[in-house]
Amino acid sequence: MDGSRADTAPTFDKAALLARYREERDKRLRPDGNAQYLELKGSHLAHYLDDPYTPMVERAPKTDHVTFAFVGGGFAGLVTGARLVEAGIKDVRIVEKGGDFGGAWYWNRYPGAQCDTASMVYMPLLEETGHRPTEKYAHAPEILAQCQRIGRQFGLYDNALFHTEVTDLAWDDAEKRWVISTNRGDRFTASFIGLGTGPLHVPKLPGIPGIEDFKGHSFHTSRWDYAYTGGDPLGAPMEKLRDKRVAIIGTGATSVQAVPHLAKTAGQLYVFQRTPSSVDVRANAPIDEDWFEGIATPGWQQRWLENFTANQAMGNATEDLVQDGWTDLSRRIRAKIAALPREGLTPQKMMAAFEDSDFEKMEEIRSRVDAIVQDHETAQKLKAWYRQLCKRPCFHDAYLQAFNNPNVTLVDTEGQGVERITETGVVVGGREYPVDCIIYASGFEVGTEYKRRAGFEVAGRDGLKLSEAWAEGMKTKHGTHVRGFPNLFFVQPTQGANLISNVPHNLTESGRTIALTIKHALDVGAREVEVTQEAQDAWVSLLLTGPGRMMMGASDCTPGYYNNEGQDPGPAAKLNVGYPAGPSAYFRYLEDWRSSGKFEGLEFR
Ligand code: NDP
Repeated sequence: MDGSRADTAPTFDKAALLARYREERDKRLRPDGNAQYLELKGSHLAHYLDDPYTPMVERAPKTDHVTFAFVGGGFAGLVTGARLVEAGIKDVRIVEKGGDFGGAWYWNRYPGAQCDTASMVYMPLLEETGHRPTEKYAHAPEILAQCQRIGRQFGLYDNALFHTEVTDLAWDDAEKRWVISTNRGDRFTASFIGLGTGPLHVPKLPGIPGIEDFKGHSFHTSRWDYAYTGGDPLGAPMEKLRDKRVAIIGTGATSVQAVPHLAKTAGQLYVFQRTPSSVDVRANAPIDEDWFEGIATPGWQQRWLENFTANQAMGNATEDLVQDGWTDLSRRIRAKIAALPREGLTPQKMMAAFEDSDFEKMEEIRSRVDAIVQDHETAQKLKAWYRQLCKRPCFHDAYLQAFNNPNVTLVDTEGQGVERITETGVVVGGREYPVDCIIYASGFEVGTEYKRRAGFEVAGRDGLKLSEAWAEGMKTKHGTHVRGFPNLFFVQPTQGANLISNVPHNLTESGRTIALTIKHALDVGAREVEVTQEAQDAWVSLLLTGPGRMMMGASDCTPGYYNNEGQDPGPAAKLNVGYPAGPSAYFRYLEDWRSSGKFEGLEFR
């Protein structure tokens, strides 16, 4: 073996690790998959679906016409709205079920909520709004404030409909416009429509027997009940928990951020774990004003976005501006691949290098648990035995530490989940843990049908339903345009860059494309714009030439929402992919597509 290969040779027993990963996965596989979860709707916690943050304002139903309507007031709607306004299209109406803009950041106000991707690239339109993030990883209130800032700056509040849920969307071919119906009695029309309802917005509950029987207090993390806990989203201590026994069920990204805060004040905190998260270093820090002034030269955020994306596995960056857990992982993979002899370099060898770097990273993350958690048995239980991208990677510098507090107990369920909930507590391994409060950190619906999550059906030309058009999987061009649905645009990552580590980057690029397309349609007097069948088919064929879903969705991963809870997701899932050459190449391609001015693949009529 030559020197360079020796440097990258694994120092761990790969076969033993793989066997452990498989054993841990097998423990967790269950036949009911996604069906194990319960909807909040119709449950004893259904009242939490009402907006606890903003009072509902009565208003008359809308029956007017707008140029552009957007469903969803999160990042997708905001960045698309902003780009449209920049392009001179000011008649934009955003319809949002919450009482303000923000989407996920409107609802998720649990203590400790913060972005997991660096603020400099995660928070949209920083340069346009002139906002300097205060921290490398901003906390939720600052992100929500950025959403509101975008709304104000681009005049998106004027025409917005809050506390309003779309119930039906139908294309009127005679009038060439969309008819939008809502739960507030609106029935207005729009020449163009955008959809950005987000991937993780329908809270779900674990299907634990007895969940309805609990007589204490309980809530889901996406509707944090500060009236019960005390404290606030800005981090004030939750004083009301001092004499309370609190259970939190779930140890995903939300729980990892909330547990350190609960640990500070809860009389007793039980953390019920089914699968441990991988928790890497956070290293959050304030953003220095002088440093920021130095780098914030015109075009800075676009440069940072491109750099962050180029630092992902398939990009080729020479410097790393962001320097975080995501770019670290990618840098290691690239270094491993670069160290391979050029001769005979095959995709299999590249995948093996990728695997090695993952094993190495996860060994580090597991050693970190030993270094931090004082109780040996608790430390062993907190170790994640799967590849890093099998589940959402987490980053935190106070989560593992919280288990050293005498008031915090990890209750590991050996991969089986909580056994039962009684009137008075939570049962695991036959033992009841009596508690006053149960907090469900049990996540959001992912694998369910688009219509169920969005809450409405979309009927395109000749009444074609989106659920029918996509019965065998999503089919689009760029993840944006769908044949049979003229003047309609999706704003989401799949079938585009599919850049998971920084979702807002996908959205801002889509927003740009949509604004340019609509401006062009209006300039040339077209009443309809639609992708051709050939262009859509060609795009879908191109997507299928790619490497597939890589780690995401791999069947050998531990079950979770990344891989349809370990069950065969069916043939449609193979279309949940991105541009074969990777996100950087996609964004370059899209920029060329836009700047050519040809709108290749679209018909303007
Ligand atoms: P997740 O779906 O990631 O986690 C749900 C948790 O509930 C898991 O630990 C799951 O265990 C556990 N669980 C489910 N059923 C049971 C049961 N019967 N008994 C015990 N435990 C159970 O939800 P989160 O809200 O944590 O995160 C959802 C997503 O939201 C993240 O993946 C991320 O994309 C996003 N997010 C982003 C943040 C950010 O960017 N800063 C912060 C928080 C969330 P198991 O793993 O075994 O299924």
